[in-house]
Amino acid sequence: MDELQLLIDLHKHAQRQGPGADAETLRALDLTRLDRTTPLKIADIGCGTGASTLMLAQHLNAEITAVDFLQEFLDILNDRAASLELQDKITPLCCSMDNLPFEAQEYDVIWSEGAIYNIGFAQGIKEWKRYLKKEGIMAVSEITWTSASPPEEIRQHWESEYPEIDTASSKFAILEQSGFSALGYFVLPEYCWLENYYRPLQNSFKDFLARNGDSKEARAIVEAEEREIELHEKYSNCYSYGVYIARKVE
Ligand code: SAH
Repeated sequence: MDELQLLIDLHKHAQRQGPGADAETLRALDLTRLDRTTPLKIADIGCGTGASTLMLAQHLNAEITAVDFLQEFLDILNDRAASLELQDKITPLCCSMDNLPFEAQEYDVIWSEGAIYNIGFAQGIKEWKRYLKKEGIMAVSEITWTSASPPEEIRQHWESEYPEIDTASSKFAILEQSGFSALGYFVLPEYCWLENYYRPLQNSFKDFLARNGDSKEARAIVEAEEREIELHEKYSNCYSYGVYIARKVE
């Protein structure tokens, strides 16, 4: 099995493929000030197995296009939607986030939790803006420094993993320069990382290794995850996901 298949196998059984929580999705939804009865068109980009998609479908009168480039994740999202009788509100779309087949000004809302880094925050904001209607809402989470001077070890780690990591004020500057106006911001609380994401992942390592014959490749993936978790435990006061809510004004 190649590395991507192993990563899919590790992550597809989880509730979420990144830090987050239903309560924090709802907190972001409150900040959008969207009316819950108005019909809305939403794209949830990099939706994974659909943690946020399902919350949005439950709480809004929305038609949601759930985009991910991994069909395996979308298949699980489909099953979850069916078991909650939400499948009529959700259309899965297997597609890369840098090549979306959307029309200009098609959507009221673009939602993306823990995924925009795959295209890069600045590029994602710029490209996805064109799919938003006038005054449409952008709600994205992005890894963010919560300290102005993170220690060298963690700074080096994130700058090599994701050179666009920055402070919230820099991310808002990008949003403003791209034609958005800020509506709200908060930092994902720690339980979103440890309780909701890293601990369940750690609890799945044993079965993951057994399923994959304890291969060298599978062990390398577990070691990399363990290293990330260790760094998080040491430096969680310096970074988190920032959740950015903004309105298209130009
Ligand atoms: N929003 C989900 C998943 C976050 S993990 C959650 O919060 O649980 C990031 C997701 O982005 C993964 O599901 C991954 O498959 C998807 N992804 C990564 N690169 C992508 C790309 N180029 N196009 C579309 N989806 C992508």
